[in-house]
Amino acid sequence: MTAALPAIAFDRIGRDRLPALLRTMPKAELHIHIEGSLEPELIFKLAQRNGVALSYPSVEALRAAYAFTDLQSFLDIYYAGASVLLKEQDFFDMAWAYLEKAAAENVVHTEIFFDPQTHTARGVPMQTVILGLHHACQRAHQELGISAKLILCFLRHLSEEDALATLEAALPWRSYFIGVGLDSSERGHPPEKFARVFARAAELGLHRVAHAGEEGPPPYVAGALDVLKVERIDHGVRSVEDPALMDRLAAERIPLTVCPLSNLKLCGVKDLADHQLPQLLSHGLVAMLNSDDPAYFGGYLNANYLACFEAMPSLGANEAYVLARNSFEASFVSADQRAGWSARLNEAFVAAAA
Ligand SMILES: [Zn+2]
Repeated sequence: MTAALPAIAFDRIGRDRLPALLRTMPKAELHIHIEGSLEPELIFKLAQRNGVALSYPSVEALRAAYAFTDLQSFLDIYYAGASVLLKEQDFFDMAWAYLEKAAAENVVHTEIFFDPQTHTARGVPMQTVILGLHHACQRAHQELGISAKLILCFLRHLSEEDALATLEAALPWRSYFIGVGLDSSERGHPPEKFARVFARAAELGLHRVAHAGEEGPPPYVAGALDVLKVERIDHGVRSVEDPALMDRLAAERIPLTVCPLSNLKLCGVKDLADHQLPQLLSHGLVAMLNSDDPAYFGGYLNANYLACFEAMPSLGANEAYVLARNSFEASFVSADQRAGWSARLNEAFVAAAA
């Protein structure tokens, strides 16, 4: 997956010019849960449209409840917010709102996670979920010029049988998603629990990714690679606790989809200055930034880039270039697409350094 790239020497680009460059550089986003892009305003609008009663009296009250202490406290509100999604148009509107924001932030390609079990368990048909999201991706490609693909995620706090049934139920729309992922509560739900459903996904020719090493320990990262045969690790920041694992991730060029504002909001780190990102980069890992659940964690992709470069003095223009380049290297796209976006990235940095 490694494209031939020029030597990196963008040191001459001053820190004062970094914010503009971070905003305008072309980049890919590979770790975004579409249900986590649901803003309180849209939750209220959909609740009204669908006659769903919310347990929060106002947009402000709902936003005020976004003071999380850990992953579980967030997931409780996340599932409550998703309860307003009932019709195909609701899923379309949610995805469209995200895609408009992403395109405006110069995201040229995005691989969007969705959690069908959150919806099918409430009686929403699989077709409603997938078609709503798919049509938004299609229209965004035509009207906004952004490339958008879907990745179907299994909720790891549910059983593997449920995941297997979900995958089978989605097969009539197999051509509308490119892979499978594993998300929700990590602790106590090791990757090995989902060995059979990931083997089935491999048989079907689907890409495979999994959350690991967010709150769970480094062996969950190794388990996702060895048992689930994933091609990317989502989060993976706790890999820094295991030097041998770090060496392996670097040697095998396993991408890590890092989400710094999410880690901060869910108390994985106390301060962004303490985040593992500089360590991951200095070890040569294929890490890039992502927004995870942007409506809940205080920012979309560019906010993540800007906050990290503000908080971490070791990050400069070279690191900005590497992160964006890594986002393309880690994307499930053709070599031609990757080369095209990488060329645009090179042009942006060469122009900024001139
Ligand atoms: Zn996530």
